[in-house]
Amino acid sequence: MADARAGRSPIRLAHVELVIFDCDGVLIDSESIASLALSETLGEFGVVMTPDEAHARFTGGAEEDTRAHCRELLGTTALDEFFALYAKRLYGGFRNLREVEGIGDVVRALDCPRCVASNSSLYRLTRSLGRLDLWQAFAGQVFSADLVARPKPAPDLPLLCAAEFGAHPARCVVIDDSPHGIEAAVAAGMLAIGFVEPGDPRPSRPDVLRRHGARFVAEGSDALRALLPEADAWLGERRRDPG
Ligand SMILES: [Mg+2]
Repeated sequence: MADARAGRSPIRLAHVELVIFDCDGVLIDSESIASLALSETLGEFGVVMTPDEAHARFTGGAEEDTRAHCRELLGTTALDEFFALYAKRLYGGFRNLREVEGIGDVVRALDCPRCVASNSSLYRLTRSLGRLDLWQAFAGQVFSADLVARPKPAPDLPLLCAAEFGAHPARCVVIDDSPHGIEAAVAAGMLAIGFVEPGDPRPSRPDVLRRHGARFVAEGSDALRALLPEADAWLGERRRDPG
């Protein structure tokens, strides 16, 4: 039993029909690997950008967004060569990938359906999250922006997840570390919880996520575990008094 092994009690939610997790920066500590790979590869092409700057500039976007930013920085000529080198560094770096501390226990303790909704490609998801045991905790319910017309911040991806599970959007909870993900949740009519990894280099991150529509913000997995029942109660209140 995963709960017994973790020594943690189940998280019982009465009103939530589906918990939708973002992947990068919520489930897996991939942002630091991606930022370092971007910083080093940009450096090879004469663009000075620290890993923290790359983290602030690139995280949370779809891969098309990253391409567009790099096109601005590098022009079109070197772009294919740049992305070939970046991909080599990124996927090599995933050898050191770890789950965000404590998040696996939270996912396994949930007593309701859960899935992943990520702006990353299916290719990247299988080579990042797919390397870890955490993948099994989602039983194949991993959804990529590849599957919809518009990535986050459009609501397409969270709405696809709700439809797949037959869940009402107003009873879905989205956990995301980026403004794009929070905006997508709000646009889908879902309850958004902002997630901030302890040690995130970006300043005032909880305030940023609240400004984009996060109703709650959890700083780390233990805070998320404590907050989910509160979010569940909030959904229950809203059902009784939608006005
Ligand atoms: Mg993210």
